[in-house]
Amino acid sequence: MPLKVLIIGAGVCGPAFATLLRRADPSLSAYEITIIERAPKLRETGLQIDLRSQGIPIVRKMGLMDTIRRRAVPESGVAFVDAAGRPFATFGKNDSGHGAQAMTSEYEIMRGDLVDVFYRASLGLSADDDDEGEEPSTPNVVSNGNVRYEFGVTVNDISQHDDAAVDVAFSDGRTARYDLVVGADGQSSRTRRMMLGGKEASDACFKPLDLFTAFYQIPRTPADDSWMNCHVMRGRRAIFTRSANVKAPTQVYMAIQTSRAEDAFGLSTARSVAEQKETFAQAFADQHGWRVDEFVDALKNKTREEDFYATEIGQVRCRKLVVGRVVLLGDAGYCPSPITGMGTTLSLTGAYVLAGELARHGRDGVPEALEAYARGVRPFVDEAQRLIPGLPRLLYAESRWGVWILTTVVWLMSKLRIVDLVFKLAPENSGGLQIPEYPELNLSS
Ligand SMILES: Cc1cc2nc3c(=O)[nH]c(=O)nc-3n(C[C@H](O)[C@H](O)[C@H](O)COP(=O)(O)OP(=O)(O)OC[C@H]3O[C@@H](n4cnc5c(N)ncnc54)[C@H](O)[C@@H]3O)c2cc1C
Repeated sequence: MPLKVLIIGAGVCGPAFATLLRRADPSLSAYEITIIERAPKLRETGLQIDLRSQGIPIVRKMGLMDTIRRRAVPESGVAFVDAAGRPFATFGKNDSGHGAQAMTSEYEIMRGDLVDVFYRASLGLSADDDDEGEEPSTPNVVSNGNVRYEFGVTVNDISQHDDAAVDVAFSDGRTARYDLVVGADGQSSRTRRMMLGGKEASDACFKPLDLFTAFYQIPRTPADDSWMNCHVMRGRRAIFTRSANVKAPTQVYMAIQTSRAEDAFGLSTARSVAEQKETFAQAFADQHGWRVDEFVDALKNKTREEDFYATEIGQVRCRKLVVGRVVLLGDAGYCPSPITGMGTTLSLTGAYVLAGELARHGRDGVPEALEAYARGVRPFVDEAQRLIPGLPRLLYAESRWGVWILTTVVWLMSKLRIVDLVFKLAPENSGGLQIPEYPELNLSS
């Protein structure tokens, strides 16, 4: 009898985990994998994400590195620009093939591309194939072999029986029993809420980092090049743009460093996308340096709701990753936040360790595998969640004078190459944790 696995969430680590289980099961008889996604189709949205430290060997072992390199965004590095748009400090990427990644990784990729790579791999499709798997029986189902995706579905309820089976009630009224339920449903995971017994316990896992961000895209202009541009402003505000992907629009990121208690702009209370757009546009309306007017105007008048995404930056610190046969994976259990740059890598490490332990312990050893996963992934989580002291507060300035000090420090760092030293302090470099080997996964060595 195959192990019936339900994965909730077809983001980055859900499909990556399914791919790893598929590789461990060449006869397609050990696992029966269902992945449900709340969105009506694969959510190929999101801006640039990257692979770092452990994420690189994991993707290499999965045999997907060439595919990812083909789709990588060739960003040159990070440039800080002044109010006239002149770059005054630049930090190039490390493409030497040695040492840790710099601010810009060698493996920058659009989130949608990475999601698509794992989605295809999990269905056993070739990377650039147009084939979308077996003819869907309904428009929202795609399957191939032992992997089946169901879109436009979520879970309403989960109940466990004697730690041996999980009954799941779906949003479309169906119910089904699984041997294992994996919550890979991101930072605001509903699986976490159900697993921990309520919203309060789940919310308590979220540690805000006093930073609010909005991401959106605008049409490219001739000024957009392969550098990520950063412009810092008084009032603890900054705008970043990324445009190295010449086939895509320019990405704009607005960031405001404030706590929920001090939140003068109402960022923490804006709920609908329209409210969030308006709040961010207002928050930057008094700034006119560089291209800020253009970005505010685009946000107010041109950005489509589906191209806009605002979030409070924080970390998910959930000590309990497993309850019975329900387990949390990726951002759902241990989002380290985008300021660490480790979200994607950590979610892949989790997928690798969970798949490895399941393959190692076999059908009858699921509880032992889950225990080994929770234990095995913890050092990687602790390392990725360690923040450089003072971040993100130190990257933002309240007054004009503060902006002057900040930009002078950034200029000095670029001239004296101090940033290389700072990166040596980053968790990515300090721990040197190696991923365990799992021959049972049948990956390349
Ligand atoms: C739309 C989107 C855009 C993003 N853009 C960026 C970005 O620009 N930069 C960045 O650094 N990070 C971004 N992220 C986060 C980044 O993908 C993750 O931090 C990281 O890759 C770890 O991935 P994950 O698989 O754990 O979570 P995610 O990639 O967040 O995937 C979670 C998936 O679960 C689905 N889901 C959520 N709730 C349910 C539910 N109740 N039932 C079924 N499915 C559910 C979501 O739709 C999503 O597809 C984005 C995430 C999303 C969902």
